[in-house]
Amino acid sequence: MRKLKEIILLFLITAASCMNGCAPPKGVDYTADGYSLNTYVKVTLYGCGSQRIAEEAVGMCSYYEDIFSRTSADSKLYELNEKGFLDIKTEEDKKLAEALELALRYCEMTEGALDITVEPLTSLWDFGGESPSVPERGHIEDALEHVDYRNVEIGDGRIELNGARLDLGAFAKGYIAERIKEYLEGEGIKSALIYLGGNVLCIGKKPDGKDFRIGVQRPFGEADDVLCALKASGLSVVTSGVYERAFYEDGRLYHHILDPETGFPCDNGLLSVTIIAEDSCLCDALSTACFVMGQEKALRFVNGLDGVCAVFVDSDYKLIYSEGAEDFTDK
Ligand code: ADP
Ligand code: MG
Repeated sequence: MRKLKEIILLFLITAASCMNGCAPPKGVDYTADGYSLNTYVKVTLYGCGSQRIAEEAVGMCSYYEDIFSRTSADSKLYELNEKGFLDIKTEEDKKLAEALELALRYCEMTEGALDITVEPLTSLWDFGGESPSVPERGHIEDALEHVDYRNVEIGDGRIELNGARLDLGAFAKGYIAERIKEYLEGEGIKSALIYLGGNVLCIGKKPDGKDFRIGVQRPFGEADDVLCALKASGLSVVTSGVYERAFYEDGRLYHHILDPETGFPCDNGLLSVTIIAEDSCLCDALSTACFVMGQEKALRFVNGLDGVCAVFVDSDYKLIYSEGAEDFTDK
């Protein structure tokens, strides 16, 4: 009976929203959240849509996790890594192939700073594991033999890894955020915030017409401790940082962003890189890649791209902005 009342209430709220042409009574937002993709995820629809749409959007994370997960034995990616090839037959195989094609383009664009074949290294370092430790150098050398995105071939209805193993951790959240955005826009959503653990995508502006404000977190600080706030509408803001998944050994910090050249965590004086651009996929790929490139090279790289800005945090917690990035800050 209570459920029925809730459904009726929800129906009335939704109906009221629609009569207003997606401008429902002030303050009616729909939020759904959960734990997926190894992180906290949340979707909020501002002043339009329905609870069902918000839940559906969050549910998409689990759907894609079943395709892209590196560690779940039931995922498509797992099957591909184990077999070394995959015949593209099902809808899920197609989705994996499409995502890989895009990811490989970013690997190329960043000249391998982003390299989705880092998997043998991520398995070795096991940052998400119970008690990670620095792997033996020989094992790192062996793993490096297989790290080269150019080994991956997609064509003739088949994905071939040619000895490589894939990890989509640096790219998947951005890709999924874009798929959620597509879904929400298809449902007529004009104002929403998609949060996939440090990966933020805003649809439109806030219902009051103002920009969304997204914080650049203080590395190692609490989630609400921000170094600066960025104003964003219709944009994605994605951060890669050393503080996400890391461990200390002999007083040294080892974190999860790996240099595909050396097999070791990048040690270049950066604590985080935040990318602002329209496409969340691009943001995710570049936040990791720019971290690997280091501040100087990454600044040149980002300044050469249209519609992409970056904010770096160095080891003194100093903020460094690419051209135009400071315009996004709340002064
Ligand atoms: P997060 O997953 O915390 O949002 P990133 O987007 O920077 O952070 O992704 C880091 C993850 O990507 C690592 O946990 C690892 O699985 C993978 N990875 C690490 N280094 C690289 C690299 N150079 N290229 C591609 N993937 C990487
Ligand atoms: Mg990334």
